[in-house]
Amino acid sequence: MMRGFFLPFIVAVALLPVLPTPEFWITLANYIGLYSIVALGLVLLTGIAGLTSFGQAAFVGLGAYSTAWLTTQFGLSPWLGLLAGLAVTAGAAFFIGAITMRLSGHFLPLGTIAWGLSLFFLFGNLEFLGKYEGLNGIPPISVFDLTLDSGRKIYFLIWLTVIAAVIAVQNLLNSRPGRAIRALKGGGVMAEAMGVNTAWMKIAIFVLAALLACISGWLYAHLQRAVNPTPFGLNAGIEYLFMAVVGGAGHVWGALLGATLLTLLKDQLQSLLPKLLGANGNFEIIVFGVMMVLLLQRARDGLWPYIRRWLPQEPNAVAPASAAALPMRARHAAGETVLQVDRARKEFGGLVAVNDMTFDVKSGEIMGLIGPNGAGKSTMFNLVTGVLPLTQGEIRFRAADRLQRIDGLASREIVRRGIARTFQHVRLIPTMSVLENAALGAHLRGTHGDIAGIAAGIARLNKTEEQSLLFEAKRQLERVGLGDMLYEEAGSLALGRQRILEIARALCCDPALLLLDEPAAGLRYREKQALAELLRKLKNEGMSILLVEHDMDFVMNLTDRLVVMEFGSRIAEGPPAAVRQNPAVLEAYLGGV
Ligand code: ADP
Ligand code: MG
Repeated sequence: MMRGFFLPFIVAVALLPVLPTPEFWITLANYIGLYSIVALGLVLLTGIAGLTSFGQAAFVGLGAYSTAWLTTQFGLSPWLGLLAGLAVTAGAAFFIGAITMRLSGHFLPLGTIAWGLSLFFLFGNLEFLGKYEGLNGIPPISVFDLTLDSGRKIYFLIWLTVIAAVIAVQNLLNSRPGRAIRALKGGGVMAEAMGVNTAWMKIAIFVLAALLACISGWLYAHLQRAVNPTPFGLNAGIEYLFMAVVGGAGHVWGALLGATLLTLLKDQLQSLLPKLLGANGNFEIIVFGVMMVLLLQRARDGLWPYIRRWLPQEPNAVAPASAAALPMRARHAAGETVLQVDRARKEFGGLVAVNDMTFDVKSGEIMGLIGPNGAGKSTMFNLVTGVLPLTQGEIRFRAADRLQRIDGLASREIVRRGIARTFQHVRLIPTMSVLENAALGAHLRGTHGDIAGIAAGIARLNKTEEQSLLFEAKRQLERVGLGDMLYEEAGSLALGRQRILEIARALCCDPALLLLDEPAAGLRYREKQALAELLRKLKNEGMSILLVEHDMDFVMNLTDRLVVMEFGSRIAEGPPAAVRQNPAVLEAYLGGV
């Protein structure tokens, strides 16, 4: 966390109501706080995990209506109203999330619009919720003997909640489940390959974002002392999303910045525009719209990155000098068959990308898979790692000392059994540090379950585990020669280095079989030699490696055996020296030299 910034922020927040600040500004600050809490959830959901939601206002409504109903109709304490609201919201969000989080592309935002509208009309049509009139006479919140019955009093509770929420989200993001959440953006293939259950993780953060919205709604109800459906409609949902995007949806502080800017701007425009235009209407919406378009063109990441440049930078996660070692998988005995690919076939429509391929990989060997561009090598990797389903055939992997079928398993189950991979087109999180990217590979070596992990991450009860994971990441990065760039942003590395970082990440999975897709592409001669050295060292430690490569010299000196593919089929197999002389290979691969 940016300590240099956090302290002055808290002081400013604490001083505002103590100083003779006009009532009007306190009211604005209260609303900014309420909006910030919702926008924080959207930062998590939309900015960081890439799931766009227009429907957050409906969850604010659930929080507000739950407490409004229980306190006005049954005279219950607002705190019980909060608990009930959280329970109702968690249930609703889980149910809605389980249905909509599976939707991809534009179906997800459409889905969020649909539930936003339905909950809005539900509030407006239920007799016991006062229909469109709403509920009045909501009591103020009491903390011990203190009754928060004025804006200036509830201010403290609102901003305490904002600060707690900032810390909670920040803590979560800088933990094992947080890294998994940050890996969700961009389809989740990589996250699954690291063992993350992406479907479940999406639902979990969806519920979390909804709970933040619910808390905001609870505070709102007891600030306003009345609720009606209007502030929980689709308009409000869109405004919350605006806030997150304007501030910078990828950053925790972006939520606060966006909520502040839009609230102040809206307030100014609402009094200014009608005067300028000489007519009444919600003209600020038009200005917001134009702003949004400009922002998407000029500053996709929102405004926060521009401010952050002026603040002192600290890494999110720092590797400890030492930590308890993580347990390691038992290695295979030398010479055993580790991977068995048996007439594996993959068709894309009419194209047979992998045509009944059969080969195996023995323990402790480096096996090369070569062939011209488009031969089907990467597709073969995707079949072995469960990214793509087989059309036909079987793939087996040795686990618990016998060959077991792994075709049909999800990626995350395959990596759990000990097959780790890199990608031909690197899949890193460019804004995350080299260290954290590597640590993502150690996801399955953490011990907390998914929900316990999220709770522990939020409350910082994961120190020992974090230290071990980060230490392991550092160790693997040092092993591959990236030890002196732990805290650089992964996206700032040269492409060759990014590939090496992917190897370190894969090593963090503690694999028994390593699948490397063109690891030497983009490396300089010296770096290639260092990579070959590293792979030999891994082999000597008992690792089995399957390597796709283009550079003939690189595979010739490194591999024990080669399989050559052309148009999806195996055309040769054997020791590199023999394959090199094979006429079919010369014809196909080298163009008949
Ligand atoms: P290589 O890695 O050997 O260069 P690939 O496995 O990437 O080859 O591709 C093999 C063939 O399969 C190519 O013709 C490619 O266009 C096709 N292909 C790969 N992935 C897909 C996909 N998801 N959908 C359709 N065709 C694909
Ligand atoms: Mg390829």
